[in-house]
Amino acid sequence: MISIEQIIENVHRIKAGLPPGVRLEAAAKTQSVEAVDAAITAGVDFIGQNYVQEGAAVAEIVKGRIPMHFIGHLQKNKINKAIALFDAIETIDSTDLADAFNLRCGNAGKVLDVLIEINSGREAQKFGVMPEDARSLTEHIASHPNLRLTGLMTMGPFSSNPEEARPYFKTTKKLFDDLASADIPGVEMRDLSMGMTSSYKVAIEEGANIVRIGTLIFGTRPPK
Ligand SMILES: *Cc1c(COP(=O)(O)O)cnc(C)c1O
Repeated sequence: MISIEQIIENVHRIKAGLPPGVRLEAAAKTQSVEAVDAAITAGVDFIGQNYVQEGAAVAEIVKGRIPMHFIGHLQKNKINKAIALFDAIETIDSTDLADAFNLRCGNAGKVLDVLIEINSGREAQKFGVMPEDARSLTEHIASHPNLRLTGLMTMGPFSSNPEEARPYFKTTKKLFDDLASADIPGVEMRDLSMGMTSSYKVAIEEGANIVRIGTLIFGTRPPK
């Protein structure tokens, strides 16, 4: 386990290397409340959580300081909880999921920021919409009064070589630009969330303005 001081130093070093306008999201799965607190104190812009339960565990320390984003895959029975906990959902990838969020946000009296997750690597086992379906999902979300579409997110196929991620980031950036210039009412393409510890520099070169970083901030996660 790395120390609180080391976490703070890591955040300072990463932030110092980010170009203006690129925001740092701490991917905080499996991290303790103390580690998340340190990352916020050091100046990360968002906390990203993959599980509703882990979001709930750190909510006290995050609330009122910086936004917390959901970056995992959601079970439908957790939607109400997710709406209560998160400031944005980065992983909307179907009309069904959008409909469910819109309905429940209406009940909760909340307008929620959402991003569409793009399956930029077209991987059968992966979440996200195929690139060619992004436009129709965008229009679908735009018709929902309780959702505010703010951008796109992608993971891309895993590789330890960041150059191999570049084409997938390019694909997602092109979609982002096309959707932005389509001027769809109710859609403001502002967030492009791409890149992790191994690939964030390449992602930034390809236009990411949110990078989601776990290992480089918190150290290697214990095996599950
Ligand atoms: C864990 C995770 C990250 C960060 O991964 P690292 O390689 O540890 O930086 C980014 N995005 C998502 C969706 C994640 O689950």
